[in-house]
Amino acid sequence: MRVLVLGAGVIGVTSAYALHRAGHEVVLVERREAVGQETSWGNGGIIHTSEAGPWSEPGAWREVLRSLGREDAPMLLRLKALPGLWRWGPQFLRECAPHRFRRNLHANLALAVASVAALDRIRHETGITHDEVTRGTLEICHTQAQLHHLVDKLAPLAEHGLRFQVLDRAAATALEPALATASQAVVGAIHFHADQSGCCETFTKKLADWLVERGAELHTGTTVERLLVEGGRVVGAVTDGGPVRADAVVVALGPWSRRLLQTVGVEVPIYPVKGVSITMDRRAWPEAPTMTVLNHGWFFALTPLGDRIRVAGSAEFTGWDTTPAPARIDAILGRAVHVFPGLRACAAAPGRRDWAGLRPIVPSGVPIVGVNPKPGLWLNVGHGHLGWTLAAGSAERLAQAIGGHNAGLAA
Ligand SMILES: Cc1cc2nc3c(=O)[nH]c(=O)nc-3n(C[C@H](O)[C@H](O)[C@H](O)COP(=O)(O)OP(=O)(O)OC[C@H]3O[C@@H](n4cnc5c(N)ncnc54)[C@H](O)[C@@H]3O)c2cc1C
Repeated sequence: MRVLVLGAGVIGVTSAYALHRAGHEVVLVERREAVGQETSWGNGGIIHTSEAGPWSEPGAWREVLRSLGREDAPMLLRLKALPGLWRWGPQFLRECAPHRFRRNLHANLALAVASVAALDRIRHETGITHDEVTRGTLEICHTQAQLHHLVDKLAPLAEHGLRFQVLDRAAATALEPALATASQAVVGAIHFHADQSGCCETFTKKLADWLVERGAELHTGTTVERLLVEGGRVVGAVTDGGPVRADAVVVALGPWSRRLLQTVGVEVPIYPVKGVSITMDRRAWPEAPTMTVLNHGWFFALTPLGDRIRVAGSAEFTGWDTTPAPARIDAILGRAVHVFPGLRACAAAPGRRDWAGLRPIVPSGVPIVGVNPKPGLWLNVGHGHLGWTLAAGSAERLAQAIGGHNAGLAA
């Protein structure tokens, strides 16, 4: 079968890989001149089963209200964003109900665990390296109360596949010596063994190259203008380079999926939530972490990416603007430097890149994967803050759904 995949971020490219592996002929279309240049470019680089919880959690609305007017708030709702949230906002609030939150969390955790295994398989089959670290991630705590609270929150997730170990200060510092350089004593940490990290953009680019070498078609610099519908069936897409026909079309346009799908009457509740990252030269700080360190108390994550180190975080409801606002960059970098003063040298080193991207967030926090809302049309969208984590597993699910559907038709 000839499958057209729209969008070449990490979700589109892994979808193309899983479809190629299932024996399909794959065509990828991307408006940028290279793959992985939008949200997949500067994310935190973390593949985390430990962060599978959706943002729509009990009490989330309190956090959002508290942020109003505070430029440095980790989650910031701008008043100008309100008109665009009139439907999405109430849906998000509904998903904050405890029973819905638990259901969504368990669904994401199962997909995240499957995804880590699927990513390992891709690396094994393709030989791709992407500055990956597979020693897990560390979430650090500065008080015993914080540590106990975290353990209580995580304990029920063990039976759903979350693997973690509680470390005291000595054990945590033995695993990650950079913790000894923190300005505030680290009393302990949680080590999530299964978590990984690595450069999402490098992975996406190398995987696309691997596919092209094996016959997949990749059209970069090509914008999808609309879907091609004949007799109620989606049979391709019209691009600025002309029409592309296919037996099946996969939409993987990240936050931009909603607009295209609306044109054929399919409504997916995706809102773009802006985040920022700062990528710096890691060599300026010889004791820099060698594995991801998350600090929820101070709202940042620090991830080594080979010779680079990245700080990422921030959630801003502000519409479609992707300019990295200096106030947001300063806030997150300031918090990270406060806790790890050694990072100051990296921040001042040449080659630093401040970046912002739009997370495709759905109210439930559970991505829409392998859904077939119209004949010929398939979705792999809405991965929110977890797209790098969930990409490989979502792609396998999508390919299975398309394969199963066709097997059903043939029967
Ligand atoms: C600050 C920040 C930190 C993050 N940290 C993490 C993390 O640590 N771990 C994690 O798992 N996730 C993280 N995420 C989330 C993750 O980056 C996203 O979920 C993921 O990149 C989404 O991938 P995507 O392929 O759906 O979207 P994108 O990467 O945005 O890809 C969509 C593609 O579609 C293309 N496109 C759009 N419209 C058209 C059109 N009309 N025609 C042709 N092409 C089009 C775009 O150019 C783009 O390349 C983070 C996100 C942010 C912003």
